[in-house]
Amino acid sequence: MACCHHYFEPVEGGEEVFSVDVSAITCGRGCLKEAGEHAKALGIGRIALFTDRRLAATEHVATVRKALTDAGIDVAVYDEVKVEPTDESFKAAARFAGEAKVDGYISVGGGSVIDTAKAASLYTTWPADFLVYVNAPVGEGRPVPGPLKPHIACPTTSGTGSECTGIAVFDLLSMKAKTGIASRRLRPTLALIDPLTTHTLPANVVACSAFDVLSHALESYTAKPFTRRAASRTPGERPMSQGANPWSDLGCREALRLAGEYMVRAVADASDHEAREQLMWASTLAGIAFGNSGVHIPHGMAYAVAGLVRDYRPAGYPDEEPMVPHGMSVIVNAPSVFRNTAIAAPDRHLDGARWLGADARGAGPEDAGEVVGARIVELMKATGIPNGVGGVGYGETDIPALIDGTLPQQRLLKNAPVEVEAEDLHRMFEGAMRYW
Ligand SMILES: [Zn+2]
Repeated sequence: MACCHHYFEPVEGGEEVFSVDVSAITCGRGCLKEAGEHAKALGIGRIALFTDRRLAATEHVATVRKALTDAGIDVAVYDEVKVEPTDESFKAAARFAGEAKVDGYISVGGGSVIDTAKAASLYTTWPADFLVYVNAPVGEGRPVPGPLKPHIACPTTSGTGSECTGIAVFDLLSMKAKTGIASRRLRPTLALIDPLTTHTLPANVVACSAFDVLSHALESYTAKPFTRRAASRTPGERPMSQGANPWSDLGCREALRLAGEYMVRAVADASDHEAREQLMWASTLAGIAFGNSGVHIPHGMAYAVAGLVRDYRPAGYPDEEPMVPHGMSVIVNAPSVFRNTAIAAPDRHLDGARWLGADARGAGPEDAGEVVGARIVELMKATGIPNGVGGVGYGETDIPALIDGTLPQQRLLKNAPVEVEAEDLHRMFEGAMRYW
């Protein structure tokens, strides 16, 4: 068994080096009021403020705008960010940024908003055909040629961790698939993490975000060790999704512990500020962890589950169009996936289960998948998450299409601790159809 002793044991021809890239972070109640001073310190004179329609009317955006104006900074507001962005919405945002002639960006919102600001900055600074920077094999996966303008990311949900990563995710409309752009250059310069923003979130948004955090941490912790990736010849070639490594382990452990302790409370009671604020910290920790290790199969399958949605409309989200929120599209797969991957790293799956609050006394390596899967299912039931992939509108006959939507996510599948072929995905989707 490879895992038990030393997960990072050197392998012939394997990588021996890992790197740690992190956004600068300012965290604490009320820190959005500092946005103007931070922008000024970054040399920004005119800034594009990215947000979405719903958030544009909130006090959080008002606080940021006032802080920027008070610091003497010109603000161009773009509030047309689409929740679950597409290539078209990324392009529209880039057109706005190009015309606004700004020298910096600030994003106030969830992952969709932060990711859209990353893409707008990329395509205005280094114009190219849209697919040039998109992950292979969907796009060309070419490296971003140089630095982007400063970007201050202000998350308002406690989930994505996007404020700490160099990843921007979107739906490619022509393929009906989610994919992304991944580059260190996309990582925001500064994350302003104000836990006051979590107090007013709808319960279902808190639940979906919390499961995104949980899965970021558990996927990152159980990812293939970085030592089993072929050694990179130059630092520039070393991917951000470098696999599990000692740095990422630290954030994963604490994020899982916090998610296990606070998730149910944070969803059940909006006035439980302690629980909601701790989840936001967990999200940041998981973000700086998986931003340096990468996630794997549950996120790969999630791209298909969200991309092929038919008529599922979740509570607490804008109801104009059917959607499966990101964290939900991930967690409906997760128990089934971990039941299948535990064989490759049983100790790590058991650690994860324990940190999430499972009673793993007496459990051996052969029980690891079941113990961690059962604990996640328990948390799903306690927070009103739908019952598996079937619970968001899919049936057995959809499995081939779901597999076709997952297979292009090679960046994620290759980061799994086991080899993943179509037949493995079939087994995992089957196991994810319903859990109770
Ligand atoms: Zn995620």
